[in-house]
Amino acid sequence: MLSVRSASMIYPGPVTALDRVSLEIARGELVAIVGPSGSGKSTLLNIIGTLDRPTSGAVHLNGQDVATLSDRRLSGLRAREIGFVFQQFHLTDGLTALENVATGLLYAGVPRRHRGERARHALTRVGLAHRAGHRPQQLSGGERQRVAIARALVNRPSLVLADEPTGALDSTTGQAVLQLLRRLNEEGTTIALITHDRDIAASLPRQIEIRDGRLVRDQVAS
Ligand code: ADP
Repeated sequence: MLSVRSASMIYPGPVTALDRVSLEIARGELVAIVGPSGSGKSTLLNIIGTLDRPTSGAVHLNGQDVATLSDRRLSGLRAREIGFVFQQFHLTDGLTALENVATGLLYAGVPRRHRGERARHALTRVGLAHRAGHRPQQLSGGERQRVAIARALVNRPSLVLADEPTGALDSTTGQAVLQLLRRLNEEGTTIALITHDRDIAASLPRQIEIRDGRLVRDQVAS
């Protein structure tokens, strides 16, 4: 479903943030990306998520070479196929949970009349239907992250990418969010997540380790 071939990312300086990284992610996988701070994990996730284009190398999503797409077509593809989850949730304060989830549909061409129903369904999947009318300030950290996960799921993307989704949560809440991601994966969602937490990484079926911009380990649990 996703393939990265010999991708490098060189920032002015120059800083080699990624050095010829190749990997494939198949439909249905749950992958942990681990490595020290500054090793290139976020850079890799941004390339996988088509937010950044690599300096060299290729990224294919569902068989399509993303380098051949215009920015407009790439934005459309990204909106439909990829859901993002961030450490700090990135919810909009003035909107309810339901409205926050529905913002995920804005760029995917879903007609307005279907948005409420789709958003409600996504909130139900993360167990928060009863909080639909609450604003982020009225929700706990774990609930906010579940709303953000519902927003990532609302387009039924091929792939969900999460950058330290448990990083801002205490360990019990973090475990609950991880449990949710596992369940969504069992229901068919393909997920790649960055984590600093060794225990979380070790509990996932596949671990990719990045050091100094290089992929140094790609291990499937036996
Ligand atoms: P990680 O997510 O593992 O902490 P990053 O991918 O954020 O690592 O960063 C990898 C390296 O690239 C670091 O040395 C970082 O300072 C550098 N870097 C990241 N983004 C930029 C940028 N936009 N401009 C210049 N250097 C960057």
